[in-house]
Amino acid sequence: MRIPVIAGNWKLFKTLAESVALVNELKPLVANSQGVEIVVAPVFTALSRVSDAIKGSNIRVAAQDCYWEEEGAFTGEVAPGLLKDAGCSHVIIGHSERRQYFGETDLTVNKKTRAAIAAGLNAIVCVGETLAERESEQTFSVIDSQISGSLAGLATEDFSRVVIAYEPVWAIGTGKTASDAQAQEVHVFIRQLISRQFGQSVADAVRILYGGSVKPDNVKGLMAQPDIDGALVGGASLKAESFAAIATFNA
Ligand code: PEP
Repeated sequence: MRIPVIAGNWKLFKTLAESVALVNELKPLVANSQGVEIVVAPVFTALSRVSDAIKGSNIRVAAQDCYWEEEGAFTGEVAPGLLKDAGCSHVIIGHSERRQYFGETDLTVNKKTRAAIAAGLNAIVCVGETLAERESEQTFSVIDSQISGSLAGLATEDFSRVVIAYEPVWAIGTGKTASDAQAQEVHVFIRQLISRQFGQSVADAVRILYGGSVKPDNVKGLMAQPDIDGALVGGASLKAESFAAIATFNA
């Protein structure tokens, strides 16, 4: 049994006050949800305040990135241990926007993932092909190298702290969702890769989320796919009502 994860990536949106207001609005809307892990990912500066606001609720907090060293002369970076200290249980790593605009590579994703796990965080590791890669039929080879590189060297027991997010870049923030079948096809492929590299029991247990224009009206179809174990949600997570509708897809 894989418990679904619905995670909201707030990206670079919302002030402190707006972040706290959003999570306070969300809490009662999802309070009765069953059998789903609900995670929100505010900007760094709001992590601590949002963590305080969700205490006693069924919502967890993620950061949107981390560094791989715990301390040192690394101006501007934030260590996994500091994220824990701020109340995070999760961290998103290797989001396509970080790969695209901030030079994130599979190597840096791998270092960050290992450091996050070592610090006791759950890593939401993102992979996904661009439109050009899909159109030139490179989807599977791109996903293969991203999964191999990003998760290289992990031990079987590390996977209790790993969630994978398949986010086709062409579907992020574009309103274009992969069809249920397109998403399921890649999720099956990722599970096969995990099975080959880390064993069948790891593959059976690991949650693979879909991300890319998930909305209240398409979440049910996606979640009905046998290998889709949740969603990483951008735009629709910025409003309590739409995120709650997604997080309670099984109500
Ligand atoms: C994301 O930011 O991970 C994402 C999937 O965004 P959106 O839902 O807006 O496509």
